[in-house]
Amino acid sequence: MIQGALDKVYERFVKEQSGEVADYIPALASANPDSFGLAIVTAKGEVYTAGDADTPFTIQSQSKPFTFALALEECGIDATYEHVGTEPSGDAFNSIVLDPVTNVPFNPMVNSGAISMAGLIRDARGDDAFEAIRTEYSRFAGAELGTDSDVFDSEITTAHRNRAIAHLMRAGGVISDPVEGVVELYTRQCSIEVTATRLATMAATLANIGTNPITNDNIVSPMTVRHVLSLMFTCGMYDYAGRWALDVGLPAKSGVTGGVMAVVNRQIGIGLYSPRLDEHGNSVRAIKACVELADEFGLHGFEFSNTGSSMLSVYL
Ligand code: GLN
Repeated sequence: MIQGALDKVYERFVKEQSGEVADYIPALASANPDSFGLAIVTAKGEVYTAGDADTPFTIQSQSKPFTFALALEECGIDATYEHVGTEPSGDAFNSIVLDPVTNVPFNPMVNSGAISMAGLIRDARGDDAFEAIRTEYSRFAGAELGTDSDVFDSEITTAHRNRAIAHLMRAGGVISDPVEGVVELYTRQCSIEVTATRLATMAATLANIGTNPITNDNIVSPMTVRHVLSLMFTCGMYDYAGRWALDVGLPAKSGVTGGVMAVVNRQIGIGLYSPRLDEHGNSVRAIKACVELADEFGLHGFEFSNTGSSMLSVYL
């Protein structure tokens, strides 16, 4: 049933060519625009894939929920929210702006908030911060994840907006020194490599309330998952988050390499990869595929027929 639906969605959109591959650095512009991978991992650990589900790409902004989760676990809820807010920004993900009332980033799903969270991990872990992040992502994925050093090298030499954001936050006491070390940590976390299948497993770990359903590794608490999913729901899809909530109705996060992951609470994680992006910076085919899957299985959080959860549990 799930495999059939994935195959159908793959066939339906494989020829779709609209959108543009991110080209702000050469290492991303060289992605194969035709790659299209889909994966679903259930909260019981079953794996279904279609197309290029094992093609590696860098995680980019889809790292943000996981570093936020690590900050909540390492520093606690109160300390975390001294460094980041919980409101959609209404601005581009890389805006050089803080909440004018609180002077902290609007939320952990935009660059400022993600850099602030990386700063918290750096304060807590010092030179071991990157290894703490990489280990946490790997546990979510159930696989040792490495980095793409070409992507890291070209991002770090061009990360001027992120440096500007970091210095603004350093001036306001949101992050501490060394500023360059924090920018480097954030940039390195963005260069961690995943695949659609691994992203789906990471999403399934959130769906399974913090326990990887394949390895049974308990990684984060149910309360951390609740915070992460809530902010993915309201802020995870850039300036398309509102329309996405209407059309798909699931907590999700996209990234500039063309990945999208979505979580169906207690049921499945969805991971998609297709590098061509729309004007919001979201993958064109990944969005179409998610709309289709949500319709097919009644996954929307506010499914009007109220058969969302029970329908899928019949299939699983
Ligand atoms: N590394 C990118 C940046 O910080 C990630 C952005 C993204 O995926 N939207 O600009």
